[in-house]
Amino acid sequence: MGLKFEAFFILISKGGGLKEAYCRPCETVGRGWPTRNDKMIIFSAVKLKNLFKKERDYPWQKPNNCPRCNSWRLWGHGFAQAIFDGFIRPLLLKLYRCPDCGCVIRLRPKGYFKGFQASIETIRSSIACKAATNRWIAGVDRTRQCHWFRFLCQRIKVYLTDTWREGIVAGFDYLLQLGQIPVSRAI
Ligand SMILES: [Zn+2]
Repeated sequence: MGLKFEAFFILISKGGGLKEAYCRPCETVGRGWPTRNDKMIIFSAVKLKNLFKKERDYPWQKPNNCPRCNSWRLWGHGFAQAIFDGFIRPLLLKLYRCPDCGCVIRLRPKGYFKGFQASIETIRSSIACKAATNRWIAGVDRTRQCHWFRFLCQRIKVYLTDTWREGIVAGFDYLLQLGQIPVSRAI
């Protein structure tokens, strides 16, 4: 029987920037050896406009090592489509595969949460605007902004305290520091 777990890592890269890798539900067998279905995400500095223009020819920065087993052998493994605000068609995110442990590594742009098409900056300014003026920001679908706000409030209750008094934006920043996606559904 495999064991299910989720792991979240924040690593400090050589340049001092944050490098995050998110591994989500993985199956492990025996002594924790990952199966071939493992997926890892590495956040990388990506110029989205350039990526939009160049598509498959975009010069991705290949990770030095496999984030799971440290192997230096990483092979190109095609692309995955992902939607980002401000672009009329999906962008192609580079995939690598580690031949040693079998995991697939997906590069994603820094400044975006996994599974979100708006930038962290946009999400944070939506939260800040709602908290300060009780209005949503212009140019972003209100339903999405409403979800971000509601899930953040939920998350503050669950992970911080019922009596959190530092304000909603401070809650966002604090959860972010904890390595969470502050606006994703808490449970
Ligand atoms: Zn590996």
